[in-house]
Amino acid sequence: MKLNLNIQPLNTWIKTGKEPLVISGPCSAETEEQLVATAHLLAQTGKISALRAGIWKPRTRPGEFEGIGSIGLEWLKRAKEETGLPTAVEVATAKHVEEALKAGVDILWVGARSTANPFTVQEIADALKGVDVPVMVKNPVNPDLSLWVGALERINNAGITKLAAIHRGFSSYEKSAFRNEPMWDVAISLKTLAPELPIINDPSHITGNRDLIGYISQKALDLDMQGLMIESHIDPSVAWTDAKQQVTPAALADIIDHLALRKPEV
Ligand code: PEP
Ligand code: MN
Repeated sequence: MKLNLNIQPLNTWIKTGKEPLVISGPCSAETEEQLVATAHLLAQTGKISALRAGIWKPRTRPGEFEGIGSIGLEWLKRAKEETGLPTAVEVATAKHVEEALKAGVDILWVGARSTANPFTVQEIADALKGVDVPVMVKNPVNPDLSLWVGALERINNAGITKLAAIHRGFSSYEKSAFRNEPMWDVAISLKTLAPELPIINDPSHITGNRDLIGYISQKALDLDMQGLMIESHIDPSVAWTDAKQQVTPAALADIIDHLALRKPEV
């Protein structure tokens, strides 16, 4: 069985000339200085294609930092003006979509907790009707390929053709080296169902550990995934969210430099 998705190639909406394609930036926008300084250092590496930042953070439990909110969109705008990097944020409600689009965000993504809820995905899809913006859909927190496919279909049915999937691994109750089990076969199954759909790997949320990011990134490239989304922070040790998995822009550049790209077949 093949999915009937209407997809435009990745190079119609993101600069794919840099190899590998990397989207990077902080888990969360915290302060204007943190975001803009991180963006400058990332841009200076010359290795990234877009700047990510969480503005609204879906925390599993209450009582923790839930994102800086709309003001962060202004900081992202400044980061983009000063570095030229296109910007990407997570949206979880119709209001997030409206605000992000109004602020000129270039790429939207649906987070893993949202993908697990068809009502949420449909609300986001409805807010995207008539809009031409790239959207990336993370896998749901649980290893349910149908939920992932269903979310991609809902967004695509709303008219979004600049579409990609993000593989960020799956929750498990078992103890493991990883924060979220990669379960590569789920991503491979998606690729089999929709060969034209780009899949971007998120080694940060798979590993939960900056020391394993290079290893998982290499594995993703070896499986022909089309890009990487890696969290970075000017000073990861003091990050307000996901501190253990964020890397400095310099460490990111080093990880990228050590990745081996697959050679075209001869
Ligand atoms: C994130 O990208 O910071 C995030 C919250 O990720 P996920 O939806 O994969 O948990
Ligand atoms: Mn994060």
